Amino acid sequence: MEEFKQEIAFPSDERLLRGRVAVTVCPGQDECGACAAACGFGALTKPGRFPTVAYDLCIGCGACVKACPRANMRLVDGSRDEAELTVKCRLADLPEEGEAVRMLNVSGLELGEGRTVQAYPLPDGRHGVVRVRTERTLLKSAAAFRK
Ligand code: SF4
Ligand code: SF4
Repeated sequence: MEEFKQEIAFPSDERLLRGRVAVTVCPGQDECGACAAACGFGALTKPGRFPTVAYDLCIGCGACVKACPRANMRLVDGSRDEAELTVKCRLADLPEEGEAVRMLNVSGLELGEGRTVQAYPLPDGRHGVVRVRTERTLLKSAAAFRK
């Protein structure tokens, strides 16, 4: 069910080709709106339980990815030969730049290999942000990684 929800909320192929864009896998949070509050471009709203991204307004800045306390926001980028995914993770799970990782779908199933191209800790001292690239066929299915 999660996979289906993500698929129907995915940006168009044309938008994916233009570079990083936010995608949400939020299961719905009544009390939380940190992602929408962090967006300075009017691209992310939360009219009810679910956040909504206006993909054409999103510039892929990643502020919503850093702000989400449950790592339910990510950036995807289809502008290269490889697919790129940017996600928030626990500091303990932060890979080294260049490190190989396993790509996972929203259900935690392994999809294939990826490569860490950027990884840095966040100021909260508990989380980090990871940018990984993987084969292009995983652009719409890769949602997370495992070291
Ligand atoms: S990536 Fe930036 S512009 Fe896009 S929805 Fe997130 S905060 Fe807004
Ligand atoms: S900040 Fe995260 S958990 Fe909260 S509404 Fe946004 S996506 Fe959902």
